[in-house]
Amino acid sequence: MASKMASCIFCKIVKGDIPCFKLFESEKTLAFLDINPLSRGHALVIPKYHGEKLTDIPDDSLVELLPVAKKLALATGATEYNILQNNGRGAHQEVDHVHVHMIPKPNPEEGLGIRWPQQ
Ligand code: 5GP
Repeated sequence: MASKMASCIFCKIVKGDIPCFKLFESEKTLAFLDINPLSRGHALVIPKYHGEKLTDIPDDSLVELLPVAKKLALATGATEYNILQNNGRGAHQEVDHVHVHMIPKPNPEEGLGIRWPQQ
């Protein structure tokens, strides 16, 4: 476990060793913009606790993930968005640290209404 944490990109982001555009932080949770966004405002919400899959994470590190995703969806002003959480390569998980995607659906008429300065 310790060696997996040492090489984990998201653990490095939690420690501040890799920069991110931070959107939310609490004792157990961190949210930041995805480096390769599927749409403007695409954000990731992660537990600070390292675990590869949802089933590896204690419940107390999971409880904030959806409420934070909800906050971020509201902050974008997007009325349509996907909340996604992949587990395992066959399910398209690339980063082996649990994360929830919040992906606003682009609105071609109104723009995205994103109030965040970056992207
Ligand atoms: P997955 O396919 O595992 O559900 O999604 C992993 C996500 O993490 C991808 O959307 C990818 O762009 C994002 N990602 C990978 N490395 C980094 C990074 O170093 N910084 C940030 N902000 N996002 C990353």
